[in-house]
Amino acid sequence: MSASTLLELRDVGKVFGDTVALEPTTLSIDEGSFVAIVGPSGCGKSTMFNIIAGLLAPDGGEVRLHDQPVTGATGHVGYMLQKDLLVPWRTVEDNITMAKRLTGRVSAADRGEARRVARQYGLGEFLRHYPSALSGGMRQRVAFMRTLVTHQPLLLLDEPFGALDAQTRLEMQQWLLQVWKDTERTVLFITHDVDESIFLSDRVLVMSPRPGRVVADIVNPLARPRTVDTLVDPQFVTIKGQIMHLLHGGQP
Ligand code: ADP
Repeated sequence: MSASTLLELRDVGKVFGDTVALEPTTLSIDEGSFVAIVGPSGCGKSTMFNIIAGLLAPDGGEVRLHDQPVTGATGHVGYMLQKDLLVPWRTVEDNITMAKRLTGRVSAADRGEARRVARQYGLGEFLRHYPSALSGGMRQRVAFMRTLVTHQPLLLLDEPFGALDAQTRLEMQQWLLQVWKDTERTVLFITHDVDESIFLSDRVLVMSPRPGRVVADIVNPLARPRTVDTLVDPQFVTIKGQIMHLLHGGQP
């Protein structure tokens, strides 16, 4: 581990019956980095996230955050899923402050923060709207803001843009990179989409099923900020080739 390590997995694994959901896995994630995890269904991505979040006990190994053991403990990550899980009878503002509502009282400062981040990131005019009035992309923005205001240093995003159309998805990716840059969080981002994994990340972990494991850890050399031109950069195409090869059973 180095001074800038936020998260460490040390030999963390999980077996369900005969299925090795995740082989014992060791990796470390630097503070402030954006790490994408790409792989087909069943390769252990969600199992890994649930272990990091403390929602699932690993069979062995240890999860450490800021060099402290957190295996099996909850409350140290912000977790967002593809399904936005917004509360339909609450406004955008109330949805953003939902974590506080569930754990205690929503203060004036909480409301102020919700309004500020909503205005800053394109949701200002929707603060009094209900989720049913919003597009898919806008709903995901609200879900992400709700995750952000929990002030956790580590955000686990499990295919948050998986259900969006290609154009909205690209807009959301650029939006997310802006928020990430402004707020200096550390992001682990699961996706099925190879382009998305490269466009967003500093590093791509490629996973493979049966047994679920990380087969490659690729450092992404592409410069930031990322733009539409990034998608046709020769380096982008090279990394994409490398990942596609691995996802189709090729050797690292
Ligand atoms: P991914 O998120 O990459 O699609 P998962 O982590 O959900 O993969 O699952 C990895 C493997 O473990 C799959 O084969 C899945 O069927 C199995 N698995 C996951 N959760 C359970 C469970 N609670 N009980 C039994 N098998 C499970």
